[in-house]
Amino acid sequence: MSELLKPFPWFDERFAHLGQLHDQNRLPHALLIHGMPGIGKAAFATAFAQSLLCQSPVQGRACGHCKSCDLNAAGSHPDLFILSPEEEGKQLKVDQVRGLGEFIYSTAQQGGYRAVVVDPADAMNVASANALLKMLEEPGSDTIILLVTSKMGQVLPTIKSRCQHIECHNPSETDAINWLMAAADNIDAEKAKSILHINRGAPKEALSYIEKGLNEHRAQLIRGLADILKQRRTALEVAQSWQKLDLEMLLGWFYSLLSDAARGSVCQSPELLRQDDARNMLNAVAKKTNPVKIFKLADKVHEERRAIMLRQNPNKQLLLENILLEWAALLN
Ligand SMILES: [Zn+2]
Repeated sequence: MSELLKPFPWFDERFAHLGQLHDQNRLPHALLIHGMPGIGKAAFATAFAQSLLCQSPVQGRACGHCKSCDLNAAGSHPDLFILSPEEEGKQLKVDQVRGLGEFIYSTAQQGGYRAVVVDPADAMNVASANALLKMLEEPGSDTIILLVTSKMGQVLPTIKSRCQHIECHNPSETDAINWLMAAADNIDAEKAKSILHINRGAPKEALSYIEKGLNEHRAQLIRGLADILKQRRTALEVAQSWQKLDLEMLLGWFYSLLSDAARGSVCQSPELLRQDDARNMLNAVAKKTNPVKIFKLADKVHEERRAIMLRQNPNKQLLLENILLEWAALLN
C-alpha cells in the first residue's frame, strides 16, 4: 500500500457507524467485514484503520497531514499490520499469523491504536486459524483486528463467533457507474453499466476486467456458446478453443449467464437479461427451454467452479466438453 486510502463513497454509512462506536468507546476489538467480492471491503477496512491511527482526524476520517498519515501514505506505519497471503490466491501461513502475535503484544510505537487488517480471512487453514484465534480472544488493549472476506462460508465458525459482523452491501448502480467512469479511461455510462452487469455490479471487479482486457476472453465465451447453439462448432471444438482461458473465470461468467437465462425463462421477461453482450442468445434459450433444465446446468457449473476454487485440479478439456454438451442439449 503506497497511499492513504480513500474508501469508496458507498461505505460512508458503515464508516460513520464505526466512527460513532469509537467515539463512544464501544468499538469491538475484532470486526468481520463481509460482502460481495470487488466492492472495496479491504480498502474500507484499511481506511478505517488509518483513521484510528491519525493524530487529528477530520470528521472521523484520516486528516492526510499528520505524522501518522504520512507514515500510512508511505505504507510504513509501524502500528498498522496488513496480513495477506504471500501470493494472491494462496493461504495465509501459520508463521505469518504467528508474526502478527509479536506485533499485537508489543506496545504501540506511536502511542495510540494498533490495527490489523486480515485480507482475506477465509484464506486460513486450521493451524493458522487457531493461531489467530488466540489473538482474537485476548488482543492487547487499543488493538483492533479487521477481518475481510467475501466467502463467509469458508471462515471457520470459531473465528466468526469472536467477531462483530459488518455486512457490506453492493453499491447502487448509479454510484457504481459514476465510480467506474472516474476510475477507468474513456468509458461512457452505457459501457460502464454493461461491464458492471458482467461483473455482478462489483466496481473493482469491473475495473480489473477493463484493465486486464478481459473483454476479448468474454467475447470468446459468448461466441463459443452461440456457435454451439447454432451448430457452427461442436462442444468439443469450442472446449478446445478455450484451453488457454482461465477456467474459474469462464465458469463464473457461464454460471451468471445461465442464472439470467433461468430467471428469464421462469418470468418470461426479457428485461431480466441484464448482460447485453449475450441478450439475444439468452433470450432464445429462455424462450425455448424449460427453466428446470437451465437451473440444473447452472447448478452443475456452480459445483464445478467451487471444486476448482477448493483447488481440485480437473481435466479441463473433459470438464468443458461435458458442460458444453449439456448446453447444446438445452435447445434439443
Ligand atoms: Zn492524520
